Amino acid sequence: GHEIGGRYQILERIGGGGMALVYKAQDLLLNRHVAIKVLRQQFVNDEEFIRRFRREAQSAASLSHPNVVSIYDVGEEDEVHYIVMEYVEGQNLNEIIKERAPLQVDEAIRIAAQICDALDHAHQNQIIHRDIKPHNILIGRNGRVKVTDFGIARAVTSATITQTGSVMGSVHYFSPEHAKGVAAGEKSDLYSLGIVLYQMLTGKLPFHGESPISVALKHLQEDFEEPRLVNPMIPQSVENIICKSMRKNPGERYNSAQEMLLDLETCLLPERRTEPK
Ligand code: ATP
Ligand code: MG
Ligand code: MG
Repeated sequence: GHEIGGRYQILERIGGGGMALVYKAQDLLLNRHVAIKVLRQQFVNDEEFIRRFRREAQSAASLSHPNVVSIYDVGEEDEVHYIVMEYVEGQNLNEIIKERAPLQVDEAIRIAAQICDALDHAHQNQIIHRDIKPHNILIGRNGRVKVTDFGIARAVTSATITQTGSVMGSVHYFSPEHAKGVAAGEKSDLYSLGIVLYQMLTGKLPFHGESPISVALKHLQEDFEEPRLVNPMIPQSVENIICKSMRKNPGERYNSAQEMLLDLETCLLPERRTEPK
């Protein structure tokens, strides 16, 4: 098979979006599987895309957390730009939702709590993900959640907000402020997480429409169907978390991922009490 960096043997393609392709590979030096994200060929002469690709690696590499995909290496060889990362054997959350949503309340909360923990860590390191959606949440065979794709993540301190290329991120998970094009901050990530939780528990997106614009407008203006009307198995306490994270006014949302995580963990408490000491 094809080899990159004299070390990584490409095994199979496992994913990819508009900007990059993702492959499973064998690290011949350390004798383990890795995932390699490769910038698409059509962008190798585009400075802005190369910068964005590097920034993705830098954002993710500045984090070290059990719920964030680890970055191992980056490189460039014959105009091929690549990021080597931890390989997560399992499924992405979009596949799981398609397969079997609505999920059990407990499973959904456990997944949301791990995403929230990853966000808390990122936010404490001044990194905003900006593209939280089920495709970017990997679930290992052990149930461990790993957040990936910091492709449009930004350091909060970064002064430049460039808007090149097509629509960045998926509009179904955009916060109202993100949809308006104003700076998306920590609370934008919490809104997106609220949508992911809504989707896990109802099997539906709160807002959909014919075009990205119509969906964006609904995020800005429309109320969503209450989760418990779609799925009566959802406890009131969990619906409250969804609604609080999805407030249109960021000022009415959780103040931090930490605060949201506390509420999520409270919903798991009764379960924990039955665990053996
Ligand atoms: P987009 O920006 O359109 O979401 P992308 O090109 O940025 O896509 P990623 O989101 O990073 O690519 O990855 C795409 C898919 O590849 C993921 O949904 C997942 O299924 C798979 N994938 C990515 N990284 C890994 C990994 N480390 N281990 C296993 N699978 C992965
Ligand atoms: Mg992605
Ligand atoms: Mg991406």
